[in-house]
This record gives sequence, C-alpha cells and structure tokens, in this order.
Amino acid sequence: MGPGHPERPERLRAIERGLEEARFALLARISAPRAELAALERVHPQSYLAALEQAAPREGYSALDSDTLMCPDTIEAVWRAAGGAVAAVEEVMSGRADNAFVAARPPGHHAGAHNPMGFCFVNNVAVAARHAQAAHGAERVAIVDFDVHHGNGTQEIFWADESALFCSTHQAPFYPGTGGRNETGAHDNIVNAPLFAGSTGDAFREALDDRILPRLRDFAPDLILISAGFDAHERDPLGGLRLREVDFGDATKRLMEIADKRCDGRIVSMLEGGYDVDALSLCVSAHVLALMGG
Ligand SMILES: [Zn+2]
Repeated sequence: MGPGHPERPERLRAIERGLEEARFALLARISAPRAELAALERVHPQSYLAALEQAAPREGYSALDSDTLMCPDTIEAVWRAAGGAVAAVEEVMSGRADNAFVAARPPGHHAGAHNPMGFCFVNNVAVAARHAQAAHGAERVAIVDFDVHHGNGTQEIFWADESALFCSTHQAPFYPGTGGRNETGAHDNIVNAPLFAGSTGDAFREALDDRILPRLRDFAPDLILISAGFDAHERDPLGGLRLREVDFGDATKRLMEIADKRCDGRIVSMLEGGYDVDALSLCVSAHVLALMGG
C-alpha cells in the first residue's frame, strides 16, 4: 500500500517468523492458490471485480480511497487471499484438516459487495462462507469478527441472509462508525457487541460470554469462520482496546468448544488487521496454538 502504510508486508513476515518455532512444526502448510472467479462472484458482481483489475496501476500506486491503495501486485495478493480462504474451507469441510488459519493479506472485512474500503478489496470471509454453502452443503455459517474495527462489509453482505450469523466485538465509537447494538440484521442474524476505548480482556470476555457465544450455540452452525483481526491488542498503533495475546488464545478456545459441540470442530480463521508486527506475531501464535489444541 506504499511506504509508511500500516497494512504492510512485514505483517506476514512477522507471522511466519513466529510460526517457525518448533511447537508449530506439526502444522500442515499449504500456499494460497488464486481464487476461481466463480468463488468471488458469489459475493461480488463481475463488474466490480473487473473494475478492480482496471484500477491496478502498471507501476507505482493508485488510491481507491484515502487509505486503500493498489500497486501492480495487489490484484494477485487479493485473488490469493480469497483463494486461501476457499482452500482452507475445502480442507476443513472435506475433513482433511480439523481447522485452519489463513495468514494472508490484504484483509477483507470492510469490503462490501460493490466497494473497496479500509485496506480491503474482496471480502475474504464472505467468499469463504458462500463457498462452504455452495460447494459443501453447509446450511448455516457463523462468522465471528474480533478485529478492533467493525466488519461493516461483512455485515452489509449478510444483513438479509438468514443462513448466516455475523457476530462482532469491536471498539466504538471508532472507524468505520457502524456496529451499534441496534444493528441486528433483517432476520436478527447480526450480533454487535461494541466495546469502549480502553476496554481490557475482561470486557472482551464478558461481551463474548453474554452476547455472542449464546447466540452462536443457538444458531448451531455447520462451520464457524473467524475474522481474526489482532488490532485490539494493547500495543496496536491504530486500535484503542487493551487486549493481550492470551485474550485471543482464550477466545479461540471458547469458540472451539462451541465448534466441537455444534459442527465437529470445524473452524476456518482468516487474518484481518493487526499493525504492531511484534504483537501481531505473538497474537497469531497464541491463536494458532489454541487451534492446534495446545
Ligand atoms: Zn482492523
């Protein structure tokens, strides 16, 4: 996204360094393939995807909004981030993997069906959800988003879709301005649990326990997807919450307990935000360790 931008390649390098430790040696790793156009078109109209390709510069950068930029390699990264989400769904729905984490960028949860926004171009978690439904017969898919920013794009895409439950914890008031408790979807299928700036792991746990986990249990999903943003960490330069890496590990374990009871443990998690690269690496390690059952 250009020099000085927080959504930068070092994020993935830091994650990869963390996952090189011996305790992760048993992880199966696959590289993200390009998404098929048909998978993207379950969420985004063909005209939008074509316009996105048109907007990519041959050299330098082009700005789609004040903080969402493209370079010549952006399209390849966007297609592979979504393709990684689809491949992870394939692995988990076929039973080849118990669960999966997709370490890819750019993130996706601010992208609406028709517009890029906030470092996001294609809504990866929405593409994953629709793929699970169209290609693997999942009837109900739940999405849990604990990024510090509200997943407004995901909420918009699933607003009137009763086959999906979207649950989010996020800082409010904060960018992008959506995510109030009163935003509940056309079928009471949206659950927003906003947190005040400065909230710690206790408030995060309470929001999960009181508002999100009971709804997740009742919904009985066939697959749980996680929009795993780690910018609610106390060291994050963009977010104003005060979570620690242990809080993300705890949340992951609680989601796994529900997944074990409701959908044979099927979870696909994908990276959203997280902009202090050292904190991001620690958070992802805690998250993946929990997914491994450790
Ligand atoms: Zn974020």
